[in-house]
Amino acid sequence: MDIKLQQVSFAYSVGTPFEKYALFDVNLNIPSKTYHAIIGHTGSGKSTILQHFNGLLKPTKGVVQLGERKIEAGKKAKELKPIRQKVGIVFQFPEHQLFEETVLKDIMFGPMNFGISEEEAEKRARECIKLVGLPEEVLEKSPFDLSGGQMRRVAIAGVLAMNPEVIVLDEPTAGLDPRGQKEIMDLFYRLHKERGLTTILVTHSMEDAAKYADQISIMHEGHCVRTGTPREIFADNEFLKKYRLEVPRIVKFQQKIENLIGQSLSKVCLTEEELADEIA
Ligand code: ADP
Repeated sequence: MDIKLQQVSFAYSVGTPFEKYALFDVNLNIPSKTYHAIIGHTGSGKSTILQHFNGLLKPTKGVVQLGERKIEAGKKAKELKPIRQKVGIVFQFPEHQLFEETVLKDIMFGPMNFGISEEEAEKRARECIKLVGLPEEVLEKSPFDLSGGQMRRVAIAGVLAMNPEVIVLDEPTAGLDPRGQKEIMDLFYRLHKERGLTTILVTHSMEDAAKYADQISIMHEGHCVRTGTPREIFADNEFLKKYRLEVPRIVKFQQKIENLIGQSLSKVCLTEEELADEIA
């Protein structure tokens, strides 16, 4: 499912003295099965855009196109339901939304709420708990007896159990230690590759954006000021200086590797198989 934002502007509190535009004429093009990062400093509009991908917010002007479906001003909640099923959002600290007695019930909650049968929901829960790297025994436990990292995985399994085509990640590593951060980011990269999930990462981490994304869009004061590959963006020193962005360590590392092997890699984050293919 291709995703397009066409001239999307969004204002909070429209028609009140507090009306405030947070997005201005944003255009984005995210082809199906790609990994797209949206980065920018605090207040640049990242969270506002994020909520447009499944209709939690609707554009004040312009259109969000998801495959054949459109999100625009005036759309009714009922019309947005099929979109919510296809676009899973992993919010910051998703473990805060766990509430059921058992992990199994928690993962089944989303699908059953969308009319999926109990049997199918349980089947998906058993599959998804493994996808996020946890043993099936965890399903019988209370989510509140798990570690923070495990709880986050359970919450992610709950999003995956909806069988989304698109997954939107809102600072998915917030609050995790460096090892936990890498594990979660690698997990999403694996899901993106193996399941062909279109992945949209909304983050202030330029390291993660540079490492995993095919394309990066930079937000600044509600405007999308640039979209390009990590290589294009992080080679443009004038642009980086203008928007106070630094070259991520991982990009410098890639440059060193390329100098060593005398060839350029297609992108920074390559699985072992991809790397073997490229340098074979
Ligand atoms: P980011 O996620 O990049 O930090 P946001 O999308 O949260 O940026 O915010 C973009 C702009 O919209 C900021 O100026 C912010 O103050 C404003 N904003 C965010 N949420 C609201 C709200 N609920 N009401 C009014 N203004 C808001």
